Amino acid sequence: MYEWVATFSGIEVRLRALRDFCFDRDSILNAVDKRTKVVFICNPNNPTGTYWNREALTDFLSDINGRCIVVVDEAYGEYVEAEDFPDTIRLIDRFPNLLSFRTFSKIYGLAGLRVGYLAGSKEAVDILKKTCVVYSVNTIAQDCALAALEDKVHIERSRLHVRREKDYMLSELREMGMPIQSAEGCFIMIKLPISDTYAYRKFLYKGIMIRSMTGFRFPNWIGVSIGLHEANEAFLSALREIKETSKEAFL
Ligand SMILES: *Cc1c(COP(=O)(O)O)cnc(C)c1O
Repeated sequence: MYEWVATFSGIEVRLRALRDFCFDRDSILNAVDKRTKVVFICNPNNPTGTYWNREALTDFLSDINGRCIVVVDEAYGEYVEAEDFPDTIRLIDRFPNLLSFRTFSKIYGLAGLRVGYLAGSKEAVDILKKTCVVYSVNTIAQDCALAALEDKVHIERSRLHVRREKDYMLSELREMGMPIQSAEGCFIMIKLPISDTYAYRKFLYKGIMIRSMTGFRFPNWIGVSIGLHEANEAFLSALREIKETSKEAFL
């Protein structure tokens, strides 16, 4: 999305390849120069699930040393249970060029309301507010978002559900011998021996929508979100069927 919006806004985009499915600090630092305005770090990363821990993020921010805005996109932050996951809001005083992006679209399950928030230093937020669309979030969405923030039970239940179902999916996929990439977050990447766009259509005929990953520069990989148990089961049985009908490829 960032690439797309920047491109049609006439802004140069410098994509950096991941390294071991993870954001590559040195590669990013090498791409930053006097003209760089914003660096986006997705933490944990969608779709690979990898993340920078507290030390990696603070080291990176120290290296950037205020030269540009650093956005940490934490759309999936609430799912992370690892102890060393950074609490970015606590880093804002030390790094006034840091912005944390959050959304109600993921663990809160409110994507249709189109509401999220960001946290940053007053200095950075004041600049951003000048460009903000005044009526971008309606009052019902605002009320719902505030109520959702308080709903600790829902958040905990979602986190637990995803952890259990992800573990279950991973063990089934491993048993099938599928190459997988998964870490934090509510999704799994699976490498197929057939084209991902072809697989997308095969799954769709079976009533299942997966993500083809070519657009994310992962040709032949598909992305699967953790859903309700029945949905996960339906995906697994569709995958088994596809595997069965494309036997040669899956050998
Ligand atoms: C879902 C998501 C968002 C937030 O999306 P909205 O629905 O527009 O709030 C931001 N970044 C990433 C990486 C996401 O996956």
